[in-house]
Amino acid sequence: MIDKDCLFCKILRGEIPCAKIYETAAVLAFLDIAPIRPGHALVIPKVHAPSLWELPADIGGDLVAALQVVGRAVREATGATGINVVMNNGASAGQLVLHAHFHVIPRVEGDGLSPWQGAPYADTMAMTRMAESIRIRI
Ligand code: AMP
Ligand code: ZN
Repeated sequence: MIDKDCLFCKILRGEIPCAKIYETAAVLAFLDIAPIRPGHALVIPKVHAPSLWELPADIGGDLVAALQVVGRAVREATGATGINVVMNNGASAGQLVLHAHFHVIPRVEGDGLSPWQGAPYADTMAMTRMAESIRIRI
């Protein structure tokens, strides 16, 4: 349930302080210490799970509900017109803290935080093959 050495578990135990925003029986939300923009918050499950794959699926409802509550409040407090909810899973995806968490990032038009660029598949067959390759693994 809790990992002794995990940074976010230490925050959950109160061993490391945080700027708390919101808490339920299942979820804690606090400000990111190095925000992309002021108001950048983190929503974490109270159960220790290194990433999305180890999370109990039935915590999804609690997480979505907390993301809605926190996202709305961050939006209002910062004057943001949009919110990115981002989850990094794995080092190559930018995950530094191995306790599953969601970033709640306030956005405004022209803030320069452009998301990654998309590029089309080479052709329709390539896209169809990719869909099939994923589908057969589900
Ligand atoms: P990630 O790269 O998705 O693992 O994000 C981890 C986030 O945790 C980073 O944005 C850090 O700035 C943030 N962070 C690290 N230590 C703390 C802390 N003590 N309190 C709040 N946020 C933290
Ligand atoms: Zn943890």
